[in-house]
Amino acid sequence: MYPVKEKLREVLATLPDGVRLVAISKYHPSSFIMEAYDEGQRIFGESHEQELASKVKELPQDIEWHFIGHLQTNKVKYIAPYISMIEAVDSLRLLREIEKQAARCDRVIKVLLELHIAEEATKYGLTPDDCRQLLDDGEWRTMSHVQICGLMMMASFTDDEEQLCREFQTAKDLFDELKQKHFADDPAFCERSWGMSDDYPLAVSHGSTMVRIGTAIFGPRVY
Ligand SMILES: *Cc1c(COP(=O)(O)O)cnc(C)c1O
Repeated sequence: MYPVKEKLREVLATLPDGVRLVAISKYHPSSFIMEAYDEGQRIFGESHEQELASKVKELPQDIEWHFIGHLQTNKVKYIAPYISMIEAVDSLRLLREIEKQAARCDRVIKVLLELHIAEEATKYGLTPDDCRQLLDDGEWRTMSHVQICGLMMMASFTDDEEQLCREFQTAKDLFDELKQKHFADDPAFCERSWGMSDDYPLAVSHGSTMVRIGTAIFGPRVY
């Protein structure tokens, strides 16, 4: 059995106050999630709608689930009844669909805008300019069932620490700009979701409030 409890404690010991852990449990069995749950962990992240749905059915109700993957608009309706936060909103179209499905469930769903800064061409997300445009456009202000709580980003897959620092700093600077321009009186816009198993100490030193850690807690994923 993988030592989930021990690994979780090790990770938590390195996180300063004010940085929350989203334990990324995709591809890991529910028994691993229960190990972490028994240690007090309540926020878990998944990236596939069907895997999430089957875990939600068998796991405790007080888990806060974050959807961290690319979400197709036609899947929003399946997760809308229970999802706490959708971290990777990468289009206005997706935001509109979340608003519609959340309204149907009479809920407010928290979301983050996913920023694309990394060099990899394959990653989803909004460029800084897309992000500015989406917020300047203002349609989001008419949406009463989504709450935009901040930004999420994945840094490049690299060992180059300077590059990682640059990317995290770009995300942090954009957060500050958007906060001042659009959310100055909105305390809910406060989350900066960056940092994964290999880069979270750097992310934390560049303003992360939420780290998304899988491998360092649950071990390697078996796909
Ligand atoms: C899988 C995943 C993570 C966790 O990655 P690890 O390297 O296992 O910590 C974090 N964020 C996103 C968006 C992911 O898809």
